[in-house]
Amino acid sequence: MGRTLAAVVAHPDDDTWGIAGTVALHADDPAFRFVLIHATSGEAGMISDPSLATRETLGQVREDEDRRSWIALGRAPDRHGWLRYPDHGVADQPFEEVVERIAAILREERPDVVVTFGPDGVTGHPDHVTVGAAASEAFARLRVGGVPGFRRLLYTAIPQSLLDAWNERLVANGKEPMDPTQLYHPRGVPDHTIGVRVDTSSVAPRVLAALREHRTQAGEMLERSEEDQLEMVSQEHAVIAWPTATPGDPAEVLADIFDGLD
Ligand SMILES: [Zn+2]
Repeated sequence: MGRTLAAVVAHPDDDTWGIAGTVALHADDPAFRFVLIHATSGEAGMISDPSLATRETLGQVREDEDRRSWIALGRAPDRHGWLRYPDHGVADQPFEEVVERIAAILREERPDVVVTFGPDGVTGHPDHVTVGAAASEAFARLRVGGVPGFRRLLYTAIPQSLLDAWNERLVANGKEPMDPTQLYHPRGVPDHTIGVRVDTSSVAPRVLAALREHRTQAGEMLERSEEDQLEMVSQEHAVIAWPTATPGDPAEVLADIFDGLD
């Protein structure tokens, strides 16, 4: 059976945060195929160091950073699609066109598993929310249309308990806690809604190496201790958006995105 994963994200580094550990765990599996779609090149993002990029070059620089991040991880995508919609402007595009451009790639690739953003966009970013909605619509159309694959749709998520633990540590270190009511701050989801919890601790140093390639985005995280940074990338979580759970079924938490698809 195939093990094709398609990740549909908004910005360079969304992919590293959301799925890099899972990809690293499958890096040596000959049946694994990894398709990555970026809706934007992230040209409206921060520039941590003016020697790295200008506002005009940031999009190209971030595409290069993203390619290098996967090389640092040790597993480059087999196919990498850049839709190059305006950063911070995906919600202003004709939704139908966004769906179709994503669907055009997924129709060819027939992924077993698609991972994207849920309605919370993890951080509430409108690009994340729109990309997640468009990818979900593309998944539904292709599945209903009988295209092979499309066996599981996942939404990257942060369990509330983990967010609470991060916040406790921030406060203990005299920092401001993250506030999920603020745009761009991470949101948690109720722990019982988590359907996939991947232990990525064995590949955490590789995920960290990948994150560090997003040099223009170097932020607060890199001020933390090495131990804290490794801990932050030692788990990846997702909500299973499809197939939908049967009410009353005991909630089984999968340890891998492909578990149970054989
Ligand atoms: Zn993003």
